[in-house]
Amino acid sequence: MRFKDHNRRGLFLAETLANSHTQSGQELIKTANGLYRKKTPHRPWVIALNEEAALASLAWNLRAVFEASTVEEAVGILNGILLYSQARPVITRHDADSWHLHFADDNSPNSSLIGATAATALAMLLCDTGLSRIGSCADPDCSRVFIDVSRNNGKKYCSTRCSTRASVAAHRERQRGPGPGPAAGDSRRVTDRHRPDRKRATA
Ligand SMILES: [Zn+2]
Ligand SMILES: [Zn+2]
Repeated sequence: MRFKDHNRRGLFLAETLANSHTQSGQELIKTANGLYRKKTPHRPWVIALNEEAALASLAWNLRAVFEASTVEEAVGILNGILLYSQARPVITRHDADSWHLHFADDNSPNSSLIGATAATALAMLLCDTGLSRIGSCADPDCSRVFIDVSRNNGKKYCSTRCSTRASVAAHRERQRGPGPGPAAGDSRRVTDRHRPDRKRATA
């Protein structure tokens, strides 16, 4: 699938905010600024102090979209964000760009523009692919969510770091064999395998 069609930048804005949902309003502003600074020099994402709460609630709502267990649930949250951010398409041209769409009026508060951009991108993705392209990292120690832009739609981990950590752990596990931890609760089978002399005692 061609992710350009879904406003790739909006998707990664959604992903980044969803992964920053525990940040304070001020930190979220820095996160959003960092993401957009290079791409939209015409519009520095300086968010007014009274927008901090709106941005924080946006991040929580976006997070809830990634964690939704049904498409209906995700759609309900997204429709709420679209409504709250007063999303509407506007054809625009600025800097050296050709004509393109923005998803809120340029005079909207920055938090609304961010919400409209992120939610529209996610909404277009969901209408095409349901929940199959959004997910949570398979590493139980990681709480990050992601958008799967892979060709085979097989992404399981949020990052190379997490997938490497998982394969290293799996490799170690294989080398150790099906060994028992002290609390494994399956010690008899393993004990039998490794210590045949104790078989009788544990059988
Ligand atoms: Zn633009
Ligand atoms: Zn992860």
